[in-house]
Amino acid sequence: MTKMTPKKTLKNTFLVPDYYPDFVCKSGSCRHTCCNGWEVTIPMEQYYFLLGLECSKPLRRTLDLTFKVVDYPTKDRYAEIAHNYNGDCPLLLKNGFCALHSKYGEEVLPGVCRLYPRGVRTLYAYETSCANSCERTLEMLFENQNPLKFVEETLSFPLSDEHMKSSLPDQMSYQSIRKFCFDILQNREYSLKERILKIGKLMIALDTNPQTDYSMVDLSVPQYEKSIEKCVPLLHHISSWLIDYDSSIAEYCQKIQDDYLHQDVQKYYDKALNHFETIFPDHEILFEKMMINDLFFRQFPYQEHTMSYFDEYISLCGLYSFIRYISIHLMIDKNTLEEYIDILARTFRVIAHTKFGKNIMNQLKRFHLATYDSLGVLIQI
Ligand code: SF4
Repeated sequence: MTKMTPKKTLKNTFLVPDYYPDFVCKSGSCRHTCCNGWEVTIPMEQYYFLLGLECSKPLRRTLDLTFKVVDYPTKDRYAEIAHNYNGDCPLLLKNGFCALHSKYGEEVLPGVCRLYPRGVRTLYAYETSCANSCERTLEMLFENQNPLKFVEETLSFPLSDEHMKSSLPDQMSYQSIRKFCFDILQNREYSLKERILKIGKLMIALDTNPQTDYSMVDLSVPQYEKSIEKCVPLLHHISSWLIDYDSSIAEYCQKIQDDYLHQDVQKYYDKALNHFETIFPDHEILFEKMMINDLFFRQFPYQEHTMSYFDEYISLCGLYSFIRYISIHLMIDKNTLEEYIDILARTFRVIAHTKFGKNIMNQLKRFHLATYDSLGVLIQI
């Protein structure tokens, strides 16, 4: 009989996006399974559990090849998947299922494999959602044009029953500020760029007085001219930094820079934008939905507890302009939503699962893009 990992259960009512209750992993039919090429680490407890798991000789051999102890291991980050030459987890079967899961069920899987693409949050509120790095999440988001709604669901997760660690006033501020931000970002009376600028106004007011009455803040915003000659080179700088920062999207960033070589910047941009807007006439709605889902997943505007509200805004502008830059330019020789989802899912691996939010904020500051006006120009891309 197989020994199971100690049982821990977190059961509560969670706020979730409306697609969440219907989410089911595509497993065998996923074009890019989530373990492909991704550094997946597991804690010490799970490593030794798998080391002692009673199983057949062939599975034992594969299991032993699958996890290797990392350099400088810690209790939480002890071993990592050693991908095979295809970039896949050695436990991935030809039919797209996991050998461990198929044989012993979900209970023996490392926590990361069991939970992904779900992000479970308990610090300020009980919330969970799926990351945009999963292609099924993006497919569900783009299935209709309705604004994303949030609903309550009673859910259980194989996690310790930890309680919210923040104070009650912090929890209340988080929940009301967040709702106010999402209402602004989903208000389709305004263009998405205007909605983002309104968030900037709100963040400035919150830094001035965190107790401010949101409904009284003047959210009128200026118009900024589109200056592609300024925006594109700035985003090339950001993409050069990303080439060093994360190898998984380095190829994307390099391709865009190479495609611009010997081209008139304005003409090439116009051509790329025209194609993007032709294939996705509803691109603003796609952007709205993927951004709201990502911001919910990353707990905006409290994603980095050390950041000011305006820093969160810089990070939001960085996210928006970078996704625009990637989307417009990488779709230039592509036409389908499926291809677009593949590009986005890979890009969100970096955005949703690293310190991207904080790092892009620092990069924008480094390039002197930390004022309301300079960000207003940047997001015109
Ligand atoms: S990316 Fe999403 S749909 Fe694909 S295998 Fe992973 S969880 Fe399942």
